[in-house]
Amino acid sequence: MSSPTVCAAVEGLLDSLAEELPKFHCTKCGSNLSHVEVTFSSQVPTGKIWTVPLPVCPKCDLKEDTAKVVLPVAC
Ligand SMILES: [Zn+2]
Repeated sequence: MSSPTVCAAVEGLLDSLAEELPKFHCTKCGSNLSHVEVTFSSQVPTGKIWTVPLPVCPKCDLKEDTAKVVLPVAC
């Protein structure tokens, strides 16, 4: 269940993420980051689509289970 207010907040967040310059170094260890492009789409009739480069640190992030990277957007 999602209200229009929540959807607007999610859209605003994705708008700013999509405009943000990708980071190139891990803030934790300083390694060069890889980027995985993740596409989000809203389910409203005027469906918007965002492609956000998601930074992945080969040292910090890939140690953990990458299967948990599931990004549902309930709008
Ligand atoms: Zn790192």
